Amino acid sequence: MSNLSLAYIFKQQQLLVDDQFQLPRVESIASDLRLQTGDQVIARDLTEQDEIPAGYQLVPIRQLLQLWNVKEFEQASRAIQLLEWRRNHKFCSHCGHKTEVHATEYAMVCPACQYHQYPRVNPCVITVITRGKDEILLAQNARAYRPMYGLIAGFVEVGETLEDAVRRETEEEVGLKIKNIQYLASQPWPFPSNLMIAFKAEYESGELCLQEEEISDAAFFKFDQLPEIPFKGSIAHAMIMHVIHGTTTADDTKEWL
Ligand SMILES: [Zn+2]
Repeated sequence: MSNLSLAYIFKQQQLLVDDQFQLPRVESIASDLRLQTGDQVIARDLTEQDEIPAGYQLVPIRQLLQLWNVKEFEQASRAIQLLEWRRNHKFCSHCGHKTEVHATEYAMVCPACQYHQYPRVNPCVITVITRGKDEILLAQNARAYRPMYGLIAGFVEVGETLEDAVRRETEEEVGLKIKNIQYLASQPWPFPSNLMIAFKAEYESGELCLQEEEISDAAFFKFDQLPEIPFKGSIAHAMIMHVIHGTTTADDTKEWL
C-alpha cells in the first residue's frame, strides 16, 4: 500500500473527499503535480470524463475551511494554487513556445528561450479599523451574495508599500483617513492565489463616503451590536475577535482563531 499517494483531486474549486471529508489515496501518474512535503502527496485535476468514485464527493474548499484544521487547509490551498498556476502557464509568456515542467522546482520552463515562470501570490491587504474604545468599521461588499459585513480589503498595487495600500484602499472604499497602522498576521487565501496581509488601524478623520461599485453599506458598529460577520477560519473573523476580545491573530497555534 506504500506506493499510494495522498491525493488532492480538484474539479475547479471543489475537492474530492470521502464521506468523512478525508482525502483519497491513489496510484500516482506522470501528469500529477507532486507536493514537496516529504510524504507522497500529489495534486491532480479531475477531467470532465473522470467519474467520481463511489463513496466520494466533491466539496467546495471554502466549506473545508470550516471542517479542517489550519494545517490541512493550508496544504489543500497550496495544492489548488499550484495546479492553477501549472494550468495557466502551459505556454511561455515571453515567446509563446510550449513550456515544460521543471524537474525539481516549481517552475514552468520554456525550452526555446529558457524563460522560467514561477508560481505567484497576489498580496492583498485587509484592515480592521476602530474608532474610540468600542466601535469597529464594517462594510458590506457590493458583490456579496449574503448580507454579511466584513473588513476593508484590496490588492497591493505595483510600487506601493503595504501601508500605502491600507491607506489608499480605506480612502477609496469608505473615504476615511486612518492612523496607527500596525501589522497583525497573514493568511494564504486560495481564491484564486492571494496572500491576505492583516493590519489594524484607528480612525483619524473624515465622513463615510462609499465607493458604490465596491461597497454597498458601511458603518461603525458598537462591539456589542455587530451584524453578521465573516465565518470562523477567515482572517477577517480572527481580526474582528482580536480588536473586540483581545484574542491573538498569530497563527503559531495552527488553530482557527
Ligand atoms: Zn520562451
